Amino acid sequence: MMPKPVNVLATKPSPLSTMVVVLILCILGFYALHFPHSSTPSSSSSSQNLSQVEKLFLSASSNSTISSYLRALTLHPHLAGTKPGSDVASYVLNHFTSLGLKTHTATYTTLLSFPVHSSLSAHFSEGGPSVSLRLTEPAAAGVVQAYHAYSPSGAVQARAVFANYGRERDYRALGAMGVNVSGCVVVVRKGGEMGRGTVVERAEAHGAAAVLVYGEGDTWRKGFERGHVMRGGIGDPLTPGWAGVEGGETLGLEDREVLKRFPKIPSMPLSAEVADSILSSLGGAPVPLQWRGTLRSKVRHVGPGPTILNFTYQGEKKVANIENVFAVIKGSEEPDRYVLLGNHRDAWTYGAVDPSSGTAALLDIARRFSVLLGLGWKPRRTIILCSWDAEEFGMIGSTEWVEQNLLNLASKAVAYLNVDCAVQGPGFFVGSTPQLDSLILEVTKKVKDPDSEGVSLYENWVAASAGSNNIQRLSGVDSDFAPFVQHAGVPSIDMYYGRDFPVYHTAFDSYNWMAEYADPFFHRHVAVTGVWGLLALHLAGDPILPFNYVSYANELQLYKNMLSNLVDQKISLHPLTLSIEEFASAAKEADDESKKLRLQETEGCVLDIKKRALNDRLMLAEKGFLDADGLQGKQWFKHLVYGPSSNNERLNFFPGISDSITGSTGVTETERLASIQHEIWRVARAIRRAASALTGEFT
Ligand SMILES: [Zn+2]
Repeated sequence: MMPKPVNVLATKPSPLSTMVVVLILCILGFYALHFPHSSTPSSSSSSQNLSQVEKLFLSASSNSTISSYLRALTLHPHLAGTKPGSDVASYVLNHFTSLGLKTHTATYTTLLSFPVHSSLSAHFSEGGPSVSLRLTEPAAAGVVQAYHAYSPSGAVQARAVFANYGRERDYRALGAMGVNVSGCVVVVRKGGEMGRGTVVERAEAHGAAAVLVYGEGDTWRKGFERGHVMRGGIGDPLTPGWAGVEGGETLGLEDREVLKRFPKIPSMPLSAEVADSILSSLGGAPVPLQWRGTLRSKVRHVGPGPTILNFTYQGEKKVANIENVFAVIKGSEEPDRYVLLGNHRDAWTYGAVDPSSGTAALLDIARRFSVLLGLGWKPRRTIILCSWDAEEFGMIGSTEWVEQNLLNLASKAVAYLNVDCAVQGPGFFVGSTPQLDSLILEVTKKVKDPDSEGVSLYENWVAASAGSNNIQRLSGVDSDFAPFVQHAGVPSIDMYYGRDFPVYHTAFDSYNWMAEYADPFFHRHVAVTGVWGLLALHLAGDPILPFNYVSYANELQLYKNMLSNLVDQKISLHPLTLSIEEFASAAKEADDESKKLRLQETEGCVLDIKKRALNDRLMLAEKGFLDADGLQGKQWFKHLVYGPSSNNERLNFFPGISDSITGSTGVTETERLASIQHEIWRVARAIRRAASALTGEFT
């Protein structure tokens, strides 16, 4: 098939970019007329100013500029801990500096993992020849070879067996057919609800000698999905719970805390093409009926064998410097309150989607904010643009920074707004902590839909999600919002266009792929940037924080109802019922107070101290859900409403309750029920804490 011509938007000046320049000049004239450079706008006019600022921000958009940023960011693969990785850090830093923004960097010394050598060959029949299988992508010069970061080195010669998605129930299905994977090389397809690390952990628990993980798909079947397989937490494995600063305490590689983060059996990604050649050669029991529906590979039998795989992987764990880059726009009235916009910068390969589409958006936000600054705009609160390193190795850059700045974040951060793979294809997706729901709805109504004329992003989004706004929640541990929500309790948002893109973590995630398939005119980039920027302008500019806890109360009520269908009659949900009632009434009170103060604000008669007092309560409430003891067995995760659980497919909230329902091995039924009840009490107490933070009253 002939490739389609690649869009060349970035290389020639488009009429659109010229239009934007003209538009900005018009705006400049307009602004000079209406908003002379006043350094401290009076509070009575600040809400009016904000809507002008919003207009200015939106009209300064430029798809060709974003496209040129993406082109520059993706010239070379830029893996964390490598020279090209630090070159991109300098590029981002220079961009911020050249715009006149105040910048700084935060460097950490962390343990990364790189491949040295790998090979895979197969004997498709007994005594047959050894056929070597391809472990590289075509034309991927300079791209790190396919590997799983933190996989141990090893050499395995064993029969191949197919274990579907590698979930517990898949191993049970194999067991029911008399298939034992012990000592085998387990081949698993990606796409179940489990992360890569858990897939390897489950295979290890079932005695597998090695794991090969492939991505299914009709296109890009030669791609290998890189990724890390660390378990039990995020951040630098040598500094669990504290920041890996130079000269600071680090654990040794043989420390038990460190060892438990790494798998004990080697693993590696496979392309769909190579996986097919292995799976189609298997004999033994037929593939269970319930696996077949969604199975794209030509696999008929699960094995083990007769195919024997010869797999070697040699990797090295290496201490390397990683670098977070920041630009700070100081607030004029509340400089000690912070709105953080973050995106990771490191990529497995060229990373056009992951994460450079988000980085291009961040660079464009910086450019547009600097235009606003030039026009005399000053945000009420401080805005920090954060460019994280080493996210792909387990959110290391953001986690180390959150650990280092925990107290200041807990007391001064208003919100964290994350964008990772900003544009993957069509369709808007957003996740948030629920007090930010109303703001998201309001802002998406102001941004043009990138795919339909004359429609707001909101209209198309709601239409696509069958009439509901469909905001997801942040229980996943798959991008940099995780440490902010789940460790520090900072209200957060994460958003993106499109999902499940086929070139994820492969060498094909390039500028050309983006321009050809995901966003030919970069209009989706413009839309994400628009939403991201407007969210920041509101959170940093609104005199009363745009938080609505009524939405949080409704969400908690919904969770309680869902839970009631899952737990035993002997379990009492009464503590939850009472705490949610208390929280709902606190939320209603705070909402009434917000409305009243907003109204008075337009009349210009609210004392700053009064606004600040309410805002502090609105900001603090999320921390009520944190618990010093954290989740059982994963104490680093402190949030009792959102966080990782082993039962995410059934309950993606209340992770502690969810885990206690699943129960751990060797626990009697009485103990299991007692532990569920205890977890319910813990969540109820957390909700009460949040309620009392919201009212600000002592008992
Ligand atoms: Zn990413």
